[in-house]
Amino acid sequence: MNRPLIWLALDGVGHPADAPPDSPWETELPTLRPLIDAGLALDATLGVPGLPQSATGQTCWLTGQDGVAAMKGHFGPQPGPTLRRLLDTASLPVRLTQAGGRAALLNVYPPGYFEAQARRAHHGCFPYSFLAAGLALNPPGTPSSPLPLLSPTLGLEYRSPWAVHDGPDDWRRTGEALAAVRGYDLLVFDAWFGDVLGHLGGETPPDGLCAAAGEYLRRLDALLCGLLGAGAAVVLSSDHGNFEHLGVKSHTTARVPFAGSGVSLTLPDGRAPGNVLEGGQALQGFYGL
Ligand SMILES: [Zn+2]
Repeated sequence: MNRPLIWLALDGVGHPADAPPDSPWETELPTLRPLIDAGLALDATLGVPGLPQSATGQTCWLTGQDGVAAMKGHFGPQPGPTLRRLLDTASLPVRLTQAGGRAALLNVYPPGYFEAQARRAHHGCFPYSFLAAGLALNPPGTPSSPLPLLSPTLGLEYRSPWAVHDGPDDWRRTGEALAAVRGYDLLVFDAWFGDVLGHLGGETPPDGLCAAAGEYLRRLDALLCGLLGAGAAVVLSSDHGNFEHLGVKSHTTARVPFAGSGVSLTLPDGRAPGNVLEGGQALQGFYGL
């Protein structure tokens, strides 16, 4: 029974070392911060002017190929035809599935998502790649190993005042349940809510935004605590900065975290990745792809 690598793919969360004072990273995070501080801070710009965007950044992570060069610049939020072609052939879910591995996307998608996609398909890179691999969204798992799926808001309401209906302990237990899943090689959580909260920032952030951002990180910390406490292999990444600086509405050029437990973060040649493209190459290398 395979023990899966669990990939927490944060969206729009810059590294704490590049965050301004009083950022959400000031939250007490007894599991998440040590993991991130022991990991790498990767460049997300690839030396290209402008602000890094989700579709190109996530294509780098998912394929280990240079989505920014393919687009001749940063592009997002959803992939267009050029990036979709890269994801069709080279994304980790596609290549892993072709090699006989098993992968699943852990996000919960509500009925409204499928209704909107039926009117006009515009999936983000993560759901697009799983669908390209012939895999379903909202996967049920197997009778012996049902998959605990994750709300991408980590239990916060989507809109202000971002009320919560469960607590960190619930997320710790979810982490423990996820760590017990077998029969998969890769489980991915497309954690996009950090980018949503980041875009609500500005010179005068709305009331409660900083508290909601802290609450989001506390739940991520609890999920990770459950995962690591139960011995899961975990890798955490991000595509670009945004959430770490709530004083601006836009993405940032902050470096992004690449951290893990029970997994090597190095490139096949033994070097440490320096940017998100090499981060994606390290992930493919982990599977020998
Ligand atoms: Zn993004």
